[in-house]
Amino acid sequence: MALNDDWRARSLKAVWHPCTQMKLHVRAEHPQPLIPVARAEGVWLHDHEGRRYLDGISSWWVNLFGHNHPAIREALIDQLHTLDHVMLAGFTHAPVVELSERLSALTGLGHAFYGSDGASATEIALKMSAHYWRNAGRPQKCRFVGIAGGYHGETVGALAVTDIALFREAYAPLVRLAATVASPDARQAGPGESAADVAERAAAALDAWLVEHAHETAAVIAEPLVQCAAGMAMHDPLYLKRLRELCDKHHVHLVLDEIAVGFGRTGTLFAHQCPQEPAKPSPPCGGDRRLGSGRSSTEQAGIRPDFLCLSKGLTGGTLPLSAVLTTDTVYEAFYDDEVARGFLHSHSYTGNPLACRAALATLDLIEQTNVIAANRVTAERLATQFGLLTQHPRVRHARRQGMIFAWDVASSLPDFARRYARHALAQGLLLRPIGHTLYAMPPYVINEDEGEQLARRALAALHATLAEEGEGAAKDKGIVDGV
Ligand SMILES: *Cc1c(COP(=O)(O)O)cnc(C)c1O
Repeated sequence: MALNDDWRARSLKAVWHPCTQMKLHVRAEHPQPLIPVARAEGVWLHDHEGRRYLDGISSWWVNLFGHNHPAIREALIDQLHTLDHVMLAGFTHAPVVELSERLSALTGLGHAFYGSDGASATEIALKMSAHYWRNAGRPQKCRFVGIAGGYHGETVGALAVTDIALFREAYAPLVRLAATVASPDARQAGPGESAADVAERAAAALDAWLVEHAHETAAVIAEPLVQCAAGMAMHDPLYLKRLRELCDKHHVHLVLDEIAVGFGRTGTLFAHQCPQEPAKPSPPCGGDRRLGSGRSSTEQAGIRPDFLCLSKGLTGGTLPLSAVLTTDTVYEAFYDDEVARGFLHSHSYTGNPLACRAALATLDLIEQTNVIAANRVTAERLATQFGLLTQHPRVRHARRQGMIFAWDVASSLPDFARRYARHALAQGLLLRPIGHTLYAMPPYVINEDEGEQLARRALAALHATLAEEGEGAAKDKGIVDGV
Protein backbone atom coordinates (compact mmCIF):
# COMPACT_ATOMS: atom_id res chain seq x y z
CA MET A 1 0.00 0.00 0.00
CA ALA A 2 1.25 3.48 -0.77
CA LEU A 3 2.70 5.22 2.29
CA ASN A 4 0.18 8.08 2.24
CA ASP A 5 -2.77 5.66 2.04
CA ASP A 6 -1.36 3.54 4.81
CA TRP A 7 -0.97 6.42 7.26
CA ARG A 8 -4.37 7.77 6.26
CA ALA A 9 -6.10 4.46 6.91
CA ARG A 10 -4.35 3.91 10.24
CA SER A 11 -5.11 7.47 11.35
CA LEU A 12 -8.81 7.12 10.52
CA LYS A 13 -8.93 3.98 12.65
CA ALA A 14 -6.90 5.15 15.63
CA VAL A 15 -7.07 8.95 15.82
CA TRP A 16 -10.07 11.14 16.57
CA HIS A 17 -9.26 14.34 14.67
CA PRO A 18 -10.15 17.79 16.06
CA CYS A 19 -12.97 20.00 14.78
CA THR A 20 -13.94 17.21 12.38
CA GLN A 21 -17.02 15.19 11.52
CA MET A 22 -15.00 12.03 10.97
CA LYS A 23 -17.48 10.60 8.50
CA LEU A 24 -16.69 13.39 6.04
CA HIS A 25 -13.26 11.80 5.58
CA VAL A 26 -14.71 8.48 4.42
CA ARG A 27 -18.11 9.00 2.82
CA ALA A 28 -18.26 7.82 -0.76
CA GLU A 29 -18.81 11.08 -2.63
CA HIS A 30 -16.20 13.86 -2.34
CA PRO A 31 -14.49 12.58 0.81
CA GLN A 32 -12.60 15.30 2.64
CA PRO A 33 -8.93 14.43 2.15
CA LEU A 34 -6.83 13.63 5.22
CA ILE A 35 -3.22 14.57 4.44
CA PRO A 36 -0.39 12.62 6.08
CA VAL A 37 2.54 14.97 6.64
CA ALA A 38 6.00 13.46 6.78
CA ARG A 39 8.01 16.62 7.36
CA ALA A 40 7.72 20.39 7.11
CA GLU A 41 10.11 23.17 6.26
CA GLY A 42 9.52 26.91 5.88
CA VAL A 43 6.03 27.44 4.45
CA TRP A 44 5.85 23.89 3.06
CA LEU A 45 4.27 20.70 4.40
CA HIS A 46 5.55 17.53 2.66
CA ASP A 47 3.67 14.24 2.45
CA HIS A 48 5.26 10.77 2.13
CA GLU A 49 5.16 10.66 -1.64
CA GLY A 50 6.76 13.90 -2.77
CA ARG A 51 3.70 16.17 -2.78
CA ARG A 52 3.91 19.42 -0.89
CA TYR A 53 1.39 21.95 0.41
CA LEU A 54 1.92 25.64 1.03
CA ASP A 55 0.78 26.33 4.61
CA GLY A 56 -1.34 29.43 3.97
CA ILE A 57 -2.80 29.52 7.50
CA SER A 58 0.35 28.83 9.54
CA SER A 59 -1.11 25.50 10.75
CA TRP A 60 -4.06 27.06 12.59
CA TRP A 61 -2.26 30.36 13.19
CA VAL A 62 0.57 29.03 15.37
CA ASN A 63 3.56 29.23 13.06
CA LEU A 64 5.44 32.52 12.77
CA PHE A 65 8.84 31.90 11.17
CA GLY A 66 8.16 28.81 9.10
CA HIS A 67 8.34 25.15 10.04
CA ASN A 68 11.51 23.57 11.36
CA HIS A 69 13.29 26.88 11.86
CA PRO A 70 16.97 26.12 12.59
CA ALA A 71 17.25 28.67 15.43
CA ILE A 72 14.29 27.24 17.36
CA ARG A 73 15.37 23.68 16.59
CA GLU A 74 18.90 24.31 17.91
CA ALA A 75 17.58 25.99 21.06
CA LEU A 76 15.35 22.98 21.74
CA ILE A 77 18.16 20.47 21.17
CA ASP A 78 20.36 22.44 23.55
CA GLN A 79 17.62 22.57 26.16
CA LEU A 80 17.03 18.82 25.87
CA HIS A 81 20.64 18.26 26.85
CA THR A 82 20.21 20.11 30.15
CA LEU A 83 16.67 20.13 31.55
CA ASP A 84 13.61 18.43 30.05
CA HIS A 85 11.05 19.24 32.68
CA VAL A 86 10.60 19.98 36.35
CA MET A 87 7.43 20.91 38.22
CA LEU A 88 7.08 24.66 38.72
CA ALA A 89 5.59 24.53 42.22
CA GLY A 90 8.53 24.84 44.60
CA PHE A 91 11.04 24.84 41.70
CA THR A 92 12.15 27.29 39.06
CA HIS A 93 14.51 27.33 36.08
CA ALA A 94 16.26 29.72 33.71
CA PRO A 95 13.93 29.41 30.69
CA VAL A 96 10.77 30.25 32.66
CA VAL A 97 12.44 33.14 34.51
CA GLU A 98 13.93 34.65 31.37
CA LEU A 99 10.73 34.25 29.39
CA SER A 100 8.67 35.90 32.15
CA GLU A 101 11.12 38.80 32.38
CA ARG A 102 11.08 39.34 28.64
CA LEU A 103 7.31 39.13 28.26
CA SER A 104 7.00 41.63 31.09
CA ALA A 105 9.44 44.03 29.42
CA LEU A 106 7.50 43.77 26.15
CA THR A 107 4.04 44.33 27.63
CA GLY A 108 4.45 46.26 30.86
CA LEU A 109 2.62 43.41 32.59
CA GLY A 110 4.58 41.32 35.08
CA HIS A 111 3.67 38.08 36.87
CA ALA A 112 3.40 35.51 34.08
CA PHE A 113 1.25 32.47 34.83
CA TYR A 114 1.58 29.52 32.46
CA GLY A 115 -0.73 26.95 30.91
CA SER A 116 -0.39 24.61 27.97
CA ASP A 117 -2.95 25.88 25.47
CA GLY A 118 -5.11 28.86 24.65
CA ALA A 119 -8.28 27.63 26.29
CA SER A 120 -6.51 27.16 29.61
CA ALA A 121 -5.10 30.69 29.34
CA THR A 122 -8.67 31.95 28.98
CA GLU A 123 -9.75 29.98 32.02
CA ILE A 124 -6.78 31.19 34.07
CA ALA A 125 -7.62 34.82 33.25
CA LEU A 126 -11.32 34.37 34.09
CA LYS A 127 -10.56 32.58 37.35
CA MET A 128 -7.94 35.16 38.37
CA SER A 129 -10.29 38.03 37.63
CA ALA A 130 -13.19 36.60 39.65
CA HIS A 131 -10.87 35.57 42.48
CA TYR A 132 -9.38 39.07 42.52
CA TRP A 133 -12.82 40.55 43.18
CA ARG A 134 -13.52 37.93 45.84
CA ASN A 135 -10.24 38.76 47.57
CA ALA A 136 -11.17 42.44 47.25
CA GLY A 137 -14.39 41.76 49.19
CA ARG A 138 -16.71 41.85 46.17
CA PRO A 139 -17.51 38.17 45.49
CA GLN A 140 -20.69 39.11 43.64
CA LYS A 141 -18.52 40.38 40.76
CA CYS A 142 -18.20 36.98 39.08
CA ARG A 143 -19.91 37.30 35.70
CA PHE A 144 -18.25 37.93 32.36
CA VAL A 145 -19.20 39.73 29.20
CA GLY A 146 -17.81 38.91 25.77
CA ILE A 147 -18.16 40.27 22.25
CA ALA A 148 -20.56 38.79 19.68
CA GLY A 149 -18.75 36.19 17.58
CA GLY A 150 -15.90 36.02 20.11
CA TYR A 151 -13.78 32.87 20.36
CA HIS A 152 -11.69 32.03 23.41
CA GLY A 153 -11.31 28.26 23.27
CA GLU A 154 -13.46 25.19 23.70
CA THR A 155 -13.06 23.78 27.19
CA VAL A 156 -16.23 24.11 29.26
CA GLY A 157 -15.04 27.28 30.99
CA ALA A 158 -13.75 28.92 27.81
CA LEU A 159 -16.96 28.03 25.95
CA ALA A 160 -18.81 30.28 28.39
CA VAL A 161 -17.25 33.30 26.66
CA THR A 162 -17.06 31.78 23.15
CA ASP A 163 -19.96 33.00 21.05
CA ILE A 164 -19.86 30.50 18.17
CA ALA A 165 -23.07 28.47 18.17
CA LEU A 166 -21.64 25.46 16.31
CA PHE A 167 -19.00 24.93 18.99
CA ARG A 168 -21.32 25.59 21.91
CA GLU A 169 -24.77 24.23 21.13
CA ALA A 170 -24.28 20.62 22.20
CA TYR A 171 -22.71 21.68 25.49
CA ALA A 172 -25.07 24.50 26.46
CA PRO A 173 -26.32 22.66 29.57
CA LEU A 174 -22.75 22.37 30.85
CA VAL A 175 -21.82 26.00 30.37
CA ARG A 176 -22.45 29.03 32.56
CA LEU A 177 -22.99 31.41 29.68
CA ALA A 178 -21.44 34.86 29.74
CA ALA A 179 -23.33 37.84 28.39
CA THR A 180 -22.59 38.98 24.85
CA VAL A 181 -22.59 42.53 23.49
CA ALA A 182 -22.47 43.84 19.93
CA SER A 183 -19.31 43.33 17.91
CA PRO A 184 -17.45 46.35 16.46
CA ASP A 185 -17.00 44.34 13.19
CA ALA A 186 -16.38 47.07 10.57
CA ARG A 187 -18.42 45.14 7.96
CA GLN A 188 -21.54 46.37 9.75
CA ALA A 189 -20.95 49.94 8.61
CA GLY A 190 -24.06 51.41 7.02
CA PRO A 191 -24.00 53.89 4.13
CA GLY A 192 -21.84 56.87 5.04
CA GLU A 193 -20.63 55.20 8.24
CA SER A 194 -16.94 54.65 9.03
CA ALA A 195 -15.37 51.76 10.92
CA ALA A 196 -14.91 54.17 13.82
CA ASP A 197 -18.66 54.86 13.84
CA VAL A 198 -19.34 51.13 14.16
CA ALA A 199 -16.78 50.94 16.97
CA GLU A 200 -18.50 53.81 18.80
CA ARG A 201 -21.87 52.11 18.41
CA ALA A 202 -20.52 48.82 19.82
CA ALA A 203 -18.84 50.70 22.69
CA ALA A 204 -22.12 52.45 23.52
CA ALA A 205 -23.84 49.04 23.73
CA LEU A 206 -21.18 47.78 26.12
CA ASP A 207 -21.49 50.94 28.19
CA ALA A 208 -25.24 50.45 28.48
CA TRP A 209 -24.77 46.83 29.51
CA LEU A 210 -22.18 47.74 32.13
CA VAL A 211 -24.41 50.46 33.60
CA GLU A 212 -26.82 47.65 34.50
CA HIS A 213 -24.42 44.84 35.32
CA ALA A 214 -20.98 46.14 36.36
CA HIS A 215 -21.75 45.41 40.03
CA GLU A 216 -21.94 41.68 39.22
CA THR A 217 -19.31 41.62 36.45
CA ALA A 218 -15.67 40.64 36.90
CA ALA A 219 -14.33 41.27 33.40
CA VAL A 220 -14.88 42.06 29.75
CA ILE A 221 -13.05 39.66 27.43
CA ALA A 222 -12.21 40.59 23.84
CA GLU A 223 -9.95 39.77 20.90
CA PRO A 224 -8.23 43.02 19.91
CA LEU A 225 -8.33 44.16 16.23
CA VAL A 226 -9.26 40.82 14.65
CA GLN A 227 -11.85 38.27 15.80
CA CYS A 228 -10.19 35.45 13.93
CA ALA A 229 -12.49 32.46 14.46
CA ALA A 230 -15.53 34.66 13.78
CA GLY A 231 -14.23 34.88 10.19
CA MET A 232 -11.45 37.46 10.46
CA ALA A 233 -13.83 40.19 11.62
CA MET A 234 -11.78 43.38 11.89
CA HIS A 235 -12.52 46.57 13.78
CA ASP A 236 -11.23 50.08 14.23
CA PRO A 237 -8.53 50.43 16.93
CA LEU A 238 -10.69 53.12 18.48
CA TYR A 239 -12.73 50.27 19.97
CA LEU A 240 -9.73 49.25 22.12
CA LYS A 241 -9.46 52.74 23.53
CA ARG A 242 -13.16 52.70 24.35
CA LEU A 243 -12.84 49.24 25.96
CA ARG A 244 -10.15 50.54 28.29
CA GLU A 245 -12.15 53.67 29.15
CA LEU A 246 -15.33 51.70 29.84
CA CYS A 247 -13.57 49.10 32.00
CA ASP A 248 -12.01 51.90 34.05
CA LYS A 249 -15.29 53.78 34.32
CA HIS A 250 -17.26 50.73 35.49
CA HIS A 251 -14.50 49.04 37.56
CA VAL A 252 -14.33 45.78 35.66
CA HIS A 253 -11.22 44.05 34.34
CA LEU A 254 -10.23 44.06 30.70
CA VAL A 255 -9.03 40.64 29.49
CA LEU A 256 -7.45 40.78 26.05
CA ASP A 257 -7.11 37.48 24.23
CA GLU A 258 -4.11 37.80 21.90
CA ILE A 259 -3.75 34.05 21.52
CA ALA A 260 -4.16 34.37 17.75
CA VAL A 261 -3.13 37.97 17.08
CA GLY A 262 -0.06 38.40 19.30
CA PHE A 263 3.59 38.45 18.21
CA GLY A 264 3.42 40.74 15.21
CA ARG A 265 0.50 39.20 13.37
CA THR A 266 -1.54 42.40 13.21
CA GLY A 267 1.30 44.84 12.50
CA THR A 268 2.45 45.75 16.02
CA LEU A 269 4.12 43.33 18.43
CA PHE A 270 0.80 42.99 20.27
CA ALA A 271 -2.52 44.08 18.82
CA HIS A 272 -3.36 46.21 21.87
CA GLN A 273 -0.21 48.24 21.17
CA CYS A 274 -1.71 49.45 17.91
CA PRO A 275 -1.90 53.26 17.91
CA GLN A 276 -5.52 54.39 18.15
CA GLU A 277 -4.51 57.54 16.36
CA PRO A 278 -2.14 56.40 13.62
CA ALA A 279 0.95 58.53 13.13
CA LYS A 280 1.21 59.65 9.51
CA PRO A 281 2.51 58.68 7.03
CA SER A 282 2.74 54.99 8.02
CA PRO A 283 -0.63 53.23 7.74
CA PRO A 284 -2.36 52.08 10.95
CA CYS A 285 -0.63 48.97 12.26
CA GLY A 286 0.74 48.29 8.79
CA GLY A 287 -2.79 47.47 7.74
CA ASP A 288 -4.98 49.02 5.10
CA ARG A 289 -8.49 48.56 6.36
CA ARG A 290 -10.72 49.89 3.65
CA LEU A 291 -12.79 51.94 6.01
CA GLY A 292 -10.63 54.73 7.34
CA SER A 293 -11.51 56.60 10.49
CA GLY A 294 -10.04 59.93 9.38
CA ARG A 295 -8.99 61.01 12.84
CA SER A 296 -5.95 63.10 13.70
CA SER A 297 -2.66 61.80 15.07
CA THR A 298 -2.38 63.22 18.55
CA GLU A 299 -2.89 60.54 21.19
CA GLN A 300 -0.48 57.98 22.61
CA ALA A 301 -0.17 54.52 21.13
CA GLY A 302 -1.92 51.53 22.60
CA ILE A 303 -3.73 50.61 25.77
CA ARG A 304 -2.89 48.27 28.63
CA PRO A 305 -5.19 45.37 29.51
CA ASP A 306 -5.52 43.96 33.05
CA PHE A 307 -4.96 40.45 31.72
CA LEU A 308 -3.25 39.41 28.50
CA CYS A 309 -3.66 35.86 27.16
CA LEU A 310 -0.94 34.52 24.86
CA SER A 311 -0.40 31.16 23.16
CA LYS A 312 -0.26 29.92 19.52
CA GLY A 313 2.72 31.94 18.13
CA LEU A 314 4.37 32.08 21.56
CA THR A 315 6.64 29.10 20.75
CA GLY A 316 6.81 29.88 17.04
CA GLY A 317 4.47 26.97 16.40
CA THR A 318 6.65 24.25 17.89
CA LEU A 319 5.33 23.30 21.35
CA PRO A 320 2.12 23.91 23.30
CA LEU A 321 2.47 26.77 25.78
CA SER A 322 0.26 29.60 26.96
CA ALA A 323 0.74 32.50 29.33
CA VAL A 324 -1.45 34.96 31.19
CA LEU A 325 0.20 38.23 32.14
CA THR A 326 -1.33 40.61 34.64
CA THR A 327 -0.79 43.78 36.65
CA ASP A 328 0.85 44.38 40.03
CA THR A 329 -2.57 45.36 41.38
CA VAL A 330 -4.03 41.95 40.56
CA TYR A 331 -0.95 40.12 41.81
CA GLU A 332 -0.96 41.97 45.13
CA ALA A 333 -4.59 41.05 45.83
CA PHE A 334 -3.50 37.39 46.02
CA TYR A 335 -0.32 38.01 48.07
CA ASP A 336 -1.34 37.10 51.60
CA ASP A 337 -0.72 35.01 54.71
CA GLU A 338 -3.79 32.98 53.91
CA VAL A 339 -3.23 30.09 51.48
CA ALA A 340 -6.78 30.21 50.13
CA ARG A 341 -6.30 33.79 48.93
CA GLY A 342 -3.52 32.57 46.60
CA PHE A 343 -4.13 31.48 43.02
CA LEU A 344 -4.31 27.72 43.54
CA HIS A 345 -4.39 26.71 39.90
CA SER A 346 -1.93 24.39 38.19
CA HIS A 347 -1.23 22.20 35.19
CA SER A 348 1.28 19.36 35.31
CA TYR A 349 3.39 20.94 32.59
CA THR A 350 3.13 24.54 33.84
CA GLY A 351 6.16 26.46 32.55
CA ASN A 352 7.71 23.47 30.77
CA PRO A 353 11.41 24.33 30.13
CA LEU A 354 11.42 23.07 26.53
CA ALA A 355 8.37 25.13 25.60
CA CYS A 356 9.78 28.21 27.37
CA ARG A 357 13.07 27.77 25.55
CA ALA A 358 11.24 27.61 22.21
CA ALA A 359 9.46 30.82 23.19
CA LEU A 360 12.77 32.51 24.03
CA ALA A 361 14.16 31.51 20.63
CA THR A 362 11.01 32.90 19.02
CA LEU A 363 11.41 36.23 20.85
CA ASP A 364 15.05 36.31 19.67
CA LEU A 365 13.87 35.86 16.08
CA ILE A 366 11.29 38.61 16.50
CA GLU A 367 14.08 40.95 17.58
CA GLN A 368 16.79 39.80 15.17
CA THR A 369 14.58 39.83 12.07
CA ASN A 370 13.05 43.20 12.99
CA VAL A 371 9.79 41.47 12.30
CA ILE A 372 7.40 44.40 12.54
CA ALA A 373 9.18 46.36 9.80
CA ALA A 374 9.84 43.23 7.75
CA ASN A 375 6.19 42.15 7.93
CA ARG A 376 5.09 45.56 6.72
CA VAL A 377 7.07 44.99 3.52
CA THR A 378 5.89 41.37 3.17
CA ALA A 379 2.26 42.34 3.75
CA GLU A 380 2.38 45.10 1.13
CA ARG A 381 3.85 42.68 -1.37
CA LEU A 382 1.22 40.03 -0.58
CA ALA A 383 -1.56 42.60 -0.88
CA THR A 384 -0.37 43.31 -4.43
CA GLN A 385 -0.03 39.60 -5.22
CA PHE A 386 -3.59 39.00 -3.98
CA GLY A 387 -4.82 41.71 -6.37
CA LEU A 388 -6.88 39.45 -8.66
CA LEU A 389 -8.51 37.75 -5.69
CA THR A 390 -9.37 41.10 -4.12
CA GLN A 391 -10.87 42.30 -7.40
CA HIS A 392 -12.83 39.10 -8.08
CA PRO A 393 -16.48 40.00 -8.77
CA ARG A 394 -17.73 37.58 -6.09
CA VAL A 395 -15.52 39.04 -3.36
CA ARG A 396 -16.99 41.35 -0.72
CA HIS A 397 -15.23 43.15 2.13
CA ALA A 398 -11.65 42.45 1.07
CA ARG A 399 -9.67 43.44 4.16
CA ARG A 400 -6.40 43.02 5.95
CA GLN A 401 -4.70 43.80 9.21
CA GLY A 402 -0.95 43.28 9.20
CA MET A 403 -0.31 39.72 8.03
CA ILE A 404 -3.99 38.68 8.09
CA PHE A 405 -5.86 38.84 4.75
CA ALA A 406 -9.57 38.06 4.31
CA TRP A 407 -12.20 38.07 1.58
CA ASP A 408 -15.91 37.24 1.95
CA VAL A 409 -17.14 35.23 -1.02
CA ALA A 410 -20.71 35.59 -2.26
CA SER A 411 -21.59 31.97 -3.08
CA SER A 412 -24.77 29.89 -2.95
CA LEU A 413 -22.82 26.86 -1.74
CA PRO A 414 -23.76 26.16 1.90
CA ASP A 415 -20.57 24.13 2.29
CA PHE A 416 -18.35 26.62 0.47
CA ALA A 417 -15.57 26.27 3.08
CA ARG A 418 -15.21 22.53 2.77
CA ARG A 419 -15.38 22.54 -1.00
CA TYR A 420 -12.84 25.34 -1.21
CA ALA A 421 -10.46 23.57 1.18
CA ARG A 422 -10.64 20.46 -0.99
CA HIS A 423 -9.82 22.39 -4.15
CA ALA A 424 -7.04 24.25 -2.35
CA LEU A 425 -5.44 20.93 -1.33
CA ALA A 426 -5.69 19.74 -4.94
CA GLN A 427 -3.74 22.91 -5.79
CA GLY A 428 -1.09 22.07 -3.18
CA LEU A 429 -2.34 24.69 -0.78
CA LEU A 430 -3.54 24.63 2.82
CA LEU A 431 -6.37 27.17 3.13
CA ARG A 432 -9.52 26.51 5.17
CA PRO A 433 -12.18 29.20 4.82
CA ILE A 434 -14.45 29.95 7.78
CA GLY A 435 -18.03 29.89 6.49
CA HIS A 436 -17.90 32.09 3.39
CA THR A 437 -14.79 33.94 4.48
CA LEU A 438 -11.62 32.98 2.67
CA TYR A 439 -8.50 34.10 4.49
CA ALA A 440 -4.72 33.78 4.43
CA MET A 441 -2.42 34.00 7.44
CA PRO A 442 0.91 32.66 6.17
CA PRO A 443 4.17 32.29 8.09
CA TYR A 444 6.10 35.57 8.15
CA VAL A 445 8.96 34.04 6.13
CA ILE A 446 6.89 33.59 2.96
CA ASN A 447 9.05 34.86 0.09
CA GLU A 448 8.08 36.58 -3.14
CA ASP A 449 7.80 33.41 -5.21
CA GLU A 450 5.85 31.59 -2.50
CA GLY A 451 3.53 34.57 -2.17
CA GLU A 452 2.92 34.43 -5.91
CA GLN A 453 2.11 30.72 -5.69
CA LEU A 454 -0.19 31.28 -2.72
CA ALA A 455 -2.13 33.99 -4.57
CA ARG A 456 -2.33 32.10 -7.86
CA ARG A 457 -3.43 28.81 -6.29
CA ALA A 458 -5.93 30.54 -4.00
CA LEU A 459 -7.56 32.13 -7.03
CA ALA A 460 -7.55 28.83 -8.97
CA ALA A 461 -9.23 27.09 -6.02
CA LEU A 462 -11.85 29.85 -5.94
CA HIS A 463 -12.65 29.36 -9.63
CA ALA A 464 -12.88 25.57 -9.16
CA THR A 465 -15.19 25.97 -6.14
CA LEU A 466 -17.52 28.47 -7.77
CA ALA A 467 -17.75 26.18 -10.81
CA GLU A 468 -19.53 23.66 -8.56
CA GLU A 469 -22.38 26.03 -7.76
CA GLY A 470 -25.76 24.53 -8.61
CA GLU A 471 -24.37 21.05 -9.14
CA GLY A 472 -25.60 19.20 -6.06
CA ALA A 473 -25.01 21.72 -3.34
CA ALA A 474 -28.34 20.64 -1.86
CA LYS A 475 -26.98 17.20 -0.95
CA ASP A 476 -24.79 18.75 1.70
CA LYS A 477 -27.56 20.73 3.28
CA GLY A 478 -27.41 20.95 7.02
CA ILE A 479 -23.67 20.41 7.26
CA VAL A 480 -22.23 23.62 8.57
CA ASP A 481 -18.62 24.59 8.12
CA GLY A 482 -16.30 24.92 11.07
CA VAL A 483 -12.88 26.50 11.43
C1 LIG B 1 -7.04 29.43 19.19
C2 LIG B 1 -7.61 30.43 20.10
C3 LIG B 1 -7.92 30.12 21.44
C4 LIG B 1 -7.80 28.73 21.99
O1 LIG B 1 -6.49 28.22 21.95
P1 LIG B 1 -6.29 26.64 22.00
O2 LIG B 1 -4.82 26.47 22.13
O3 LIG B 1 -6.83 26.11 20.71
O4 LIG B 1 -7.04 26.13 23.17
C5 LIG B 1 -8.40 31.11 22.24
N1 LIG B 1 -8.56 32.36 21.79
C6 LIG B 1 -8.28 32.71 20.51
C7 LIG B 1 -8.48 34.12 20.09
C8 LIG B 1 -7.83 31.75 19.62
O5 LIG B 1 -7.61 32.08 18.35
